[in-house]
Amino acid sequence: MRSLPPSVSSRRLRWFLALPKLGVVLLLAAVVTLLWLLHQNELEEERTSLIKDVLWLEQNLRFHLARSEEQLQQLASDLGSQPDRKRLFRIRASHMVKNNPDISQIAWFDAKRRVIDALPASTPADSGVEAFGPAATQKAFELAILLNKRIYSEPFFLSGNVAHFALVMPIYGDKEVTGMLVATHSLEDLLGNLVPWWFTEKYRVVVVDDNGAQYAAKSNVSGTPSLSYELPFDPPGHGLSFRVTSYQGAGNPLQRLLAGAILVLAAGVFWSLWIVRELMKKRSNAEQALRAEHALRSAMEDSLTVGMRARDLTGRIIYVNPAFCRMTGFTSAELVGRDPPMPYWIPEQLDETLELHQAVLDGKAPPDGFEITLQRKDGERFQALIYEAPLIDGNGQHTGWMASILDVTERRRAEELARQQQEKLQFTSRLVTMGEMASTLAHELNQPLAAIASYNTGCLNLLAAGAFDPQEIREALEKLGVQAQRAGRIIRRVHDFVRKSEPKRAPCSLAEIVDDCLGFIEAEARKRRVQLASDLPPLPPVLADHLMLEQVLLNLIRNGMDAMSATPAARRVLRISARRRAEEVVVSIADNGCGIAPEVRDKLFTAFFSTKPEGMGIGLSICRSIIEFHRGRLWVEDNSPAPGGSGTIFSFTLPLESA
Ligand code: ADP
Repeated sequence: MRSLPPSVSSRRLRWFLALPKLGVVLLLAAVVTLLWLLHQNELEEERTSLIKDVLWLEQNLRFHLARSEEQLQQLASDLGSQPDRKRLFRIRASHMVKNNPDISQIAWFDAKRRVIDALPASTPADSGVEAFGPAATQKAFELAILLNKRIYSEPFFLSGNVAHFALVMPIYGDKEVTGMLVATHSLEDLLGNLVPWWFTEKYRVVVVDDNGAQYAAKSNVSGTPSLSYELPFDPPGHGLSFRVTSYQGAGNPLQRLLAGAILVLAAGVFWSLWIVRELMKKRSNAEQALRAEHALRSAMEDSLTVGMRARDLTGRIIYVNPAFCRMTGFTSAELVGRDPPMPYWIPEQLDETLELHQAVLDGKAPPDGFEITLQRKDGERFQALIYEAPLIDGNGQHTGWMASILDVTERRRAEELARQQQEKLQFTSRLVTMGEMASTLAHELNQPLAAIASYNTGCLNLLAAGAFDPQEIREALEKLGVQAQRAGRIIRRVHDFVRKSEPKRAPCSLAEIVDDCLGFIEAEARKRRVQLASDLPPLPPVLADHLMLEQVLLNLIRNGMDAMSATPAARRVLRISARRRAEEVVVSIADNGCGIAPEVRDKLFTAFFSTKPEGMGIGLSICRSIIEFHRGRLWVEDNSPAPGGSGTIFSFTLPLESA
């Protein structure tokens, strides 16, 4: 698995995470802008409709006032020209007051400002002001006289704090003003009658002056004011104006619902993005851990010196590690997917290898591993030690076979070299033994040779004397022959002993080997005045190399004799015994010698350790390796029961042939 370097992949991941967030933010911004635009549009519409409604109201009021003004003017002109003016005033004024509920009074004054008549009559007197009316009306009156035209007064408050304004209309006689008509309008009633109900459901209408003082109001709405629009209220003028304020209703519930849904959805999207981000983070962390794990595994795999090979259940290679490739010289691509025969099998051993291969597939691979010769791509052969084990996958399924392969060529070569050296050492040790025994053997050989010579001289003498008994010569010659055979046996034994041969285990009789040894060593024992005793029960044959076993026995016997050099001659007994124990034979060589000091005991079997001035110190180490080669053990014990002193028993085991 090759993957991107971590920095590139995490940068890309950050981009992947940032893009949807950016998208959602942009979408949200677009939606908010849209909502804002809609709201603005709505406000604009509201404003337009407010202005339209205000203009309509203003026009309505203006028309109304213009109409009342016209009626009053008509009355004024009729009062200036017609007879029976009082009656006329009554009829027309009462008619006007009835049709215009906002007119609270119409009063008729003469040129000297005296009231001629008023409808309803009681009002001016009740108002508590002087007969003529409030100051504002007087001011308008004077202005009307001055300007000779109708004048609207400033607003003023009458009883009950109700705002009014008055329209002062001059009455012309022939050429001059003969009187005045004053129509007092109630602002409250004006609004109450002229502002329709639907208008008050939407707006609050207030009449204010320049200073913001409120004169009259009409409204049925409540809530928070949103938009307001002001328009001069002229007539009556004098800085009065309408202020129409629209009130925000509950708003469009669908729109609110939509906006709410958008916000909730956006929050949801953010939330899910957050979760995705967390998940991706987790995934990225897991990926990183996996990558690290993979890198570690690859590093471990690459640094392994043991070849690894996996095969599926059919025997096809599914994996090889770099060490295996190095070992065989084939690349992974050349090996993976291959079915048997494999290219690294030895061509002339194909059948055996295939058999072994099949045994592995059948689950019969030796648990301790097996050795096989394989060949590299360049044809070089090598010795491989293979351990096979079942390949179990994560689900516990047996999916194939995993092998670890060790190139043991070098090890085997070293072992072979060591074996050869050991053999050489054994041979040397035999030569050394022989050298040490040479004088004794020469002396031993001397005896039959001297006997031969004397028999020979005797025979010659008899022949020279001429008179001889042929029987006498035969006997002498027979004895000569016996001595020659004895000499020959000694020579052969020496020859056999020093002969170089391959170790070979074969069934042989222990008694025979011991006899041979005793025959060999007898002369030396005699010379050293050591008594050799053997105690061998009849035993089944042992599986051993005759010559090697002889070497061990000779070595141990000679060591025992050496140890007894200081022992009194009477006690110089060396006992060779053997006994059967289960499926093996235990052979012991016991002496009554000096024994072994504790500090020496640990080093006994170490090569080249000797306490003797002329000793080589290789005897015991060779004995041990020979016994181990025979799958036996060699050990040492104190011969404590030996009377009058210490002694040593060397024992070794040998497996019986039947074992
Ligand atoms: P070498 O006989 O050449 O010294 P060995 O390996 O045969 O070499 O013996 C090593 C040493 O073990 C001897 O030097 C001796 O000290 C001690 N040893 C061997 N056999 C006996 C024995 N039977 N009694 C006491 N010491 C012994």
